[in-house]
This record gives sequence, C-alpha cells and structure tokens, in this order.
Amino acid sequence: MERFDGTFTQQEPIPEAGIEAALEVMRSGRLHRYNTVPGEVGEVALLEEDFAAITGARYCLAVASGGYAMTTAMRACGVKPGDPVLTNAFTLAPVPGAIASLGAVPVFVEVTEDMVIDLDDLAAKAGRAKVLLLSHMRGHICDMDRLMALCDAAGITVIEDCAHTMGASWNGVPSGRYGAVGCYSTQTYKHINSGEGGLIVSDDEVLMARMILLSGSYMLYARHKAAPPPEVFEGLRLETPNISGRMDNLRAAILRPQLALLEGQAQRWNARYKVMEDGLRGVPGLGLPHRPEKEGYVASSFQFLLTDWAEDDVRAFVERCAARGVELKWFGAPEPAGFTSRYDHWRYAAAEPMPQTDRILAGLIDMRLPLTFSEEDCALIARILREEVLATNSGKEAAE
Ligand SMILES: *Cc1c(COP(=O)(O)O)cnc(C)c1O
Repeated sequence: MERFDGTFTQQEPIPEAGIEAALEVMRSGRLHRYNTVPGEVGEVALLEEDFAAITGARYCLAVASGGYAMTTAMRACGVKPGDPVLTNAFTLAPVPGAIASLGAVPVFVEVTEDMVIDLDDLAAKAGRAKVLLLSHMRGHICDMDRLMALCDAAGITVIEDCAHTMGASWNGVPSGRYGAVGCYSTQTYKHINSGEGGLIVSDDEVLMARMILLSGSYMLYARHKAAPPPEVFEGLRLETPNISGRMDNLRAAILRPQLALLEGQAQRWNARYKVMEDGLRGVPGLGLPHRPEKEGYVASSFQFLLTDWAEDDVRAFVERCAARGVELKWFGAPEPAGFTSRYDHWRYAAAEPMPQTDRILAGLIDMRLPLTFSEEDCALIARILREEVLATNSGKEAAE
C-alpha cells in the first residue's frame, strides 16, 4: 500500500529578496511604519501602493491581521453593538469572531454544494441586515454579479473576506473589488506569508480615511501613499478612535517580494489542484465542487464531498487516510479540531436551523495544498483518497 510522507503545514521559505529587505529594515532600526527619515517612504506605505496597484483599488491599508482588517472594515461601515451582520455559515472562526468582537450578531447564510454562499437563502434574509461579511471560504467564489445585484437592491454594504482569494478573480475582476471593502490576510497559511498581517482595499475615500484612523495612524496619515488626501481626514480625525492594529515595516518588507511572485504561485497551486481533481473525478460517492468559467481561483486547498455517508464511514475513511499519511480536515466532526470548526460550535452566536449546511458540512472534507508538495505528491494523495473511497464503497456493498 502506498503512503504519503509529506507535511501538510510546511510552507515554502521566504524569498531571498524578502529576507534581504527584512535585514535592511532591522539594520535601520526603523520598524514602526511612521518611523521614517525625511523623504523616506517606509516599507508599509510601499506595500500598500503595490497592493493597490495589483488589485486596481484606489486605496489600501496594511494592518496587523486579517481578523483586524474585517473588524476595522465593519467599524468603518458603521456596524454597532447589537447590529445583525449577514455572513456565511461555512467559514473560519475569525469571521464570526470579528462580528462578535463588535458586539454585533452574525446572521448565518446557508452554503451550497459548490461551497459558496447560497444566494437564494441570502435573498430570503436580505431584509435582516445592512452589512454582509462575505467569506470566500477556501477560495470558492459565488456568482458575484448576482450577489452584488441582490445586495445593491437591498441596500446591503458588502465587505469581502478574501483570506483565501488573494490573487483570485470573478469575471476578470480581482476578488475584493466587488464589495465596498476587501479584506485579506497575510498569515502564514494564506497566499503570502508574513506570519501575521492583513491588507484592506477600498475605493471609498471616507471609509478608507476612517479605517486608516482606526488602525492607529495618530495624526500621521499624510505619510500614507495609497490613501485619500489629508482634507478627507479633517472631519473624521477627532471623532474616530485609535484602535491600534498597524502593520510594521519588517512584515511589509517580507511581503513585497512575495506579492511580485503571487501570479506564478497561483499557477503552481492550480496545477496541483488540477492533478487532484483529475485523480478524483468520477469516483462514486465522492463529489467535487463545480468551478464556473468566470471563477479565476487560486487553489491553495482542496475540498470534496462525501454527501450522505454514514458518520462512522466518514470517520473511518479519515482515519484510514491519516494512517497512510494523508491529513484531512472534516467539517462534519462533532467536536472542533485544529483550525476546523462549524457554525454550531460557535456558541456565542445563536444560529437558526441550517439543514442544507448541516447536510453539506457532514460530508465536507478539506485539505491544504502547500506548494512544498510536488504534482507527483498530489497524484499520490489522490490515489490514496480514491482507493480509500472505493474501499468504503465496497464495504458498504458487502454489508447490503
Ligand atoms: C485566516 C482567515 C481569516 C483571518 O485571518 P487572520 O490573519 O488569521 O486573522 C479570515 N477568514 C478566513 C476565511 C480565514 O481563513
């Protein structure tokens, strides 16, 4: 029996150019973004310019984390304690956590078999909130044209959680550019890696001025480059609290060379994804999400569905794969494990019954696709998964 012996959490090293730039910052001692000498533009301000250019956004702000980016975006959009905020039932814990941190209340929307937000359920719930925190969970992008038409008609402000879609697009428009605000993470397991970190883009000058002030700019906002002009800050600077969450020059220095490589990395991820997809297509009992033509994805992870399998069969399958070195995350497990948890585990946020999401998550299997895996590794993983699904199927038949 074949076994896989790679590590699902091993990232590639920081590019040498990033290491060099980080050493430069450390030698200067000027790690704080506003600690610049006259005429100098710090690494954080440069990163913001770079990312604004890549996404085509007018403005960009770098912050301490993806979670901080989402909280700041919601604050800037006026979310107050007690306010309902629409969001995906299938997402990662920092998304409802960001809503809860404002004292606001998540209103969960069902997921589809393609692992995106269910737009029919969203339409049914549209009257209940003024803000949607849309999570492109695991890089799956819904029909953004339909979503925006729906939200525009209902007067809903859309904030995009692009933690898994940096570099991705819908219909040629970069992910994060449909909503009023796009939020990204530069945490180690995302598409560019500074340990922790976040980026925010927006074309709205008032929202961006508020977010810059919220992030802890003091009265130094004129040192930003990808920012609205100082007069936009005039009416806001004394009434906007400083809720410290800046990025520092060291992280920005590590990130800038990675941004330049993002497109090539996306192709490498997608090549791995395709090997997995090809290896698993047509396996009875295993469902793959349909990826629409308009979706320009960056597949840094892989998901499939074991819909309507008995819970014990899924558990046994996950265990057998683990014994062969393939580490899977199961969204149907009764208890949260590692990074994986489910809406009904988030006890601080009461949820309504979500029958469709329950059925899908019960069979949803997820795995990372780090670039330290070769395409041959992915072919081997797919063979192991295929064999173990087929073994479960024949076990079921024998029992019938
Ligand atoms: C990682 C993640 C976040 C938050 O990013 P951090 O930088 O870790 O705070 C938000 N949403 C999703 C879907 C994520 O996976």
